[in-house]
Amino acid sequence: MEPLDRSTIWPYDERGEPGAYYYSRYGSPTVAEAEARLGELDGGEALLFPSGSGATSALVLALLRPGDTIALAEGCYFGTGVTFQALAHWGLRYVEFDQTGPPPEGVQLVWLEAPSNPFLTMPDLEAAAAHAAPVVVDSTAATPVHLRPLEHGADFALHSATKYLAGHDDALLGSVACRDPAAAAELRTFRTRTGIVAAADPAWLLLRGLKTLEIRVARQTETASLLADRLRGHGKVQAVRYPGFGGLLSFDLADGAAARRVETATGLIVNATSLGGVTSVMESRYRWEGERVPAGLLRLSAGLEDAEALWRDLEAALEQA
Ligand code: PLP
Repeated sequence: MEPLDRSTIWPYDERGEPGAYYYSRYGSPTVAEAEARLGELDGGEALLFPSGSGATSALVLALLRPGDTIALAEGCYFGTGVTFQALAHWGLRYVEFDQTGPPPEGVQLVWLEAPSNPFLTMPDLEAAAAHAAPVVVDSTAATPVHLRPLEHGADFALHSATKYLAGHDDALLGSVACRDPAAAAELRTFRTRTGIVAAADPAWLLLRGLKTLEIRVARQTETASLLADRLRGHGKVQAVRYPGFGGLLSFDLADGAAARRVETATGLIVNATSLGGVTSVMESRYRWEGERVPAGLLRLSAGLEDAEALWRDLEAALEQA
């Protein structure tokens, strides 16, 4: 197991020169180890940030200028638009578009999500790669187990590493893998100067989580597929969204009241936010996103519990719908 090094300083060498590590805002061994592993997984040079949203902020602030516009995948993670809105007074704009088709012209950055959370659409990566602007793919829900966006022409692959990569709901982190080493170097300098730097403790938890990433995601995919199939055959369920891989799905009940009754009636499936952990969680997204989502929409993230036990829990809760 990799050692956890919490130091913020390391001594200069005998000649008084700084070595590989000297002050942790510039770089630290545990974070660097996690970045090396993430880089292998995504096939690029990876940088770690204190959260997925921190990675998003750092990336757009480093890449864009006042007056620039981002083409943002419609129906993607609600918080990404919220982050962009928070940066609006720096002159940053965004327009939403249907990511299953080509991005609009006249934008300086294309932001996709694979698959989108909670609508579970997949982007047209080929159409986006043909666009003149750099392309970011938030592939938090796909994970590198199912998709390596840099191999499909994306310039940056971003993750909320809080989710599947760390995988145990105990570490808040974000990562960006870059196709171009020069872009990675620029982002690294920006990160050091702005101080949007990940700490050693969550990086160590990420390293531990990554050891089981493939096996967790394989199991979560199996379970989510089974639950999606069963939900499709259930009389109270109006629509099921599942892209056929990954551990995340969403489905619609008749209305918000039915969704609230069902989400609070499960036992094994915890009524909580987030996704990608070993514990199954389910929540109505209406509480956070309002009219942007159907009031009856429930998002379910499959964990590692027994799939049949999860279905029994869900089926019993659906009686309240
Ligand atoms: N991207 C996606 C797809 C997410 O689901 C989330 C969080 O839910 C984020 C980014 C933001 O990540 P964090 O919560 O680590 O800031």
